[in-house]
Amino acid sequence: MTMTQTISHHLTDSLLMGYAAGNLPEAFSLVVATHISMCDECRARAATFDTVGGAMLETSDAVAMEEGSLEATMARISAALPVARGNGSTTQPGQMQGQHQRRARGILPAPLQDYVGGDLDQINWRPVGMGVRQALLPTSRSASVRLLYIPAGASVPDHGHRGLELTLVLQGAFMDGDMRFGPGDIEIATEELEHTPIAAQGADCICLAATDAPLRFRALMPRLAQPFLRI
Ligand code: ZN
Ligand code: ZN
Repeated sequence: MTMTQTISHHLTDSLLMGYAAGNLPEAFSLVVATHISMCDECRARAATFDTVGGAMLETSDAVAMEEGSLEATMARISAALPVARGNGSTTQPGQMQGQHQRRARGILPAPLQDYVGGDLDQINWRPVGMGVRQALLPTSRSASVRLLYIPAGASVPDHGHRGLELTLVLQGAFMDGDMRFGPGDIEIATEELEHTPIAAQGADCICLAATDAPLRFRALMPRLAQPFLRI
């Protein structure tokens, strides 16, 4: 994974704020940390929330901020680029400061390599059907996160969502309708969205996907398999 690819689908402010405040379930935190490790833009925005959050905690009982203190804060932010943590633990404001981004060797970005204890060769894939494979990663149970391996041209069964689903592309690309998601892109699916992501031709697609509620599959077969796959 190099940093030269163009990322066009990013994290929302609310996800970045929740991450900076340490309020996200572990599974979402891992996806956010991994995107941040791949995306200069969201890393800079995360640093802003991290610093502003920390500053608000420190000054919450102070009377007023001095004139120009916001500018001073922003100047400090740009001097200290943060890095994502890979241990999947919830995070505290200010924890990212003073660290630097690490570039991982291999397919998995550094936060994920830390999490699984290695690269793709450490992954224990299980077949999901239609050539798709998954590997559930251990997290707290409030949300779940998995690696998905989707052969080029294959699709994930048509489904809706009962909660929030974050899907981050690590390798290859998938199409969702007329939108394309390539390496580093993150798709944020909510209850309104029903979709059938299809891996693009040319390369197998590897994604990191987190959900906080079971998906709703339209077809019978995926519904029957659902309890066994914990999707
Ligand atoms: Zn981004
Ligand atoms: Zn989905």
